[in-house]
Amino acid sequence: MASETDTRGGKIDEKLTAKVCFWCGSTKFRRVNRRGMLQRYVLTALGWYPWECAICRRKTFRRKSG
Ligand SMILES: [Zn+2]
Repeated sequence: MASETDTRGGKIDEKLTAKVCFWCGSTKFRRVNRRGMLQRYVLTALGWYPWECAICRRKTFRRKSG
């Protein structure tokens, strides 16, 4: 049976696949919520957003495209 839910799961934004995970080489990431007021404030001010590798689940930060 062909699967349509492999790496194209709805939570993974393929527009972000340009980034490669430093640890496992995965190019799949998903958004995670910011934690803490300081982190939220700083990251928002700098335009960075936290992401989680879909494979190894390590956190990384990626700047908003543009
Ligand atoms: Zn990874």
